[in-house]
Amino acid sequence: MALDNETLTLLLDAVRRFVNERLVPAEDELASTGAMPEGIVQEMRELGLFGLSISPDYGGLGLTMEEEVRVVFELGQTSPAFRSLAGTNIGIGSQSIVMSGTDEQRSHYLPLLASGEVIGSFALTEPEAGSDAMSLRTSAVRDGDHYILNGTKRFITNAPIAGLFSVMARTSQERGADSISCFLVEAGTPGLTLGKPDKKMGQAGALTCDVVFEDCRVPASSLLGGKEGTGFRTAMRVLDKGRLHISALCVGIAERLVRDAARYALERKQFGQPIADFQLVQAMLADSQTELYAARCMVLDAARKRDRGENTTLEAACCKLYASEMVGRVADRAVQIHGGAGYMAEYAVERFYRDVRLFRIYEGTSQVQQVVIAREVLKAHR
Ligand SMILES: Cc1cc2nc3c(=O)[nH]c(=O)nc-3n(C[C@H](O)[C@H](O)[C@H](O)COP(=O)(O)OP(=O)(O)OC[C@H]3O[C@@H](n4cnc5c(N)ncnc54)[C@H](O)[C@@H]3O)c2cc1C
Repeated sequence: MALDNETLTLLLDAVRRFVNERLVPAEDELASTGAMPEGIVQEMRELGLFGLSISPDYGGLGLTMEEEVRVVFELGQTSPAFRSLAGTNIGIGSQSIVMSGTDEQRSHYLPLLASGEVIGSFALTEPEAGSDAMSLRTSAVRDGDHYILNGTKRFITNAPIAGLFSVMARTSQERGADSISCFLVEAGTPGLTLGKPDKKMGQAGALTCDVVFEDCRVPASSLLGGKEGTGFRTAMRVLDKGRLHISALCVGIAERLVRDAARYALERKQFGQPIADFQLVQAMLADSQTELYAARCMVLDAARKRDRGENTTLEAACCKLYASEMVGRVADRAVQIHGGAGYMAEYAVERFYRDVRLFRIYEGTSQVQQVVIAREVLKAHR
């Protein structure tokens, strides 16, 4: 463990308090304005939320995967757009550097990401390359001490506010993982432009947009790890870890939804009694609690395996598939338990119902998780 038990308990208590006292009351403002309420970003920095997964050598907390998912179980209990702000620095925006960066790249960028001074973005998806990420077309052509990048990245989380992009680009035209490299490109580099922020179904306040490279010259020192051809494999390792983080988030949100639904069921009266007395309503709560408990156990088990140094590609995909589908069903039941009120924006369940739809799509769709799981199962039994 990175933290002793007492310190971990203190951290979890602090995050729980921050969520309940600062974030939950600010949910409506974030949803209606799409802007982070004043002061919250600074408080997130002070709590260390941007550096959960970055080593203390670079100013982070260096949590183990188990510790990280336990923090995320807490952070999940509010609008996921709050988590999304720090989420790329904890996950896909920093982990390529943690896993494969050179010493110089680590010591330059990780302290900035751990403190939240710089927001990191992960740019893999393109208009013509989503689930089939390996078919990406963005090119990086060597030109003396530089590379020249051309291409478009799509739906990139936190891009409108990012200071640093981990960009997967093709350094060879051959098919296969060896043709793809990762570049660390700073915002403001000439030739890098951003599209307009996307209008999304949910998670208002979590920003995405296109990132466009037009003859964007970057120094050769921005090649991640100083080696061509390692970018795709690094990206897949980053996503393996990211899937556990997203799964933990789904668990946290499901806990919030069960709580909101149970409280509503206890208060709302029909036929002269609280609707919580009706066994058909109880069944919805029971199914939700059971599924959320199953997902929580899966996530903790997979996180511990990862902490023991075992390969968790299979488990991470199982967790992401189950937890993201689970939170969709739980949100659906939470709306149902609220009846007509559940369809109204005044109740948080309406917003969560839209917010959680994303988890079945990004960092690999449910179908992609099924493909990964089946591939791993067949490999083991061939
Ligand atoms: C809000 C948001 C934030 C995002 N943030 C980022 C980010 O920060 N960085 C980044 O790089 N990307 C990001 N993405 C992109 C995201 O990862 C992709 O949208 C996702 O991987 C799916 O790709 P696609 O949208 O091109 O869908 P497609 O790949 O076109 O898929 C369409 C449908 O076909 C199915 N399908 C595709 N291939 C198969 C197959 N082999 N077998 C079965 N079914 C298949 C899919 O499951 C899906 O149902 C984000 C997306 C969204 C919506």
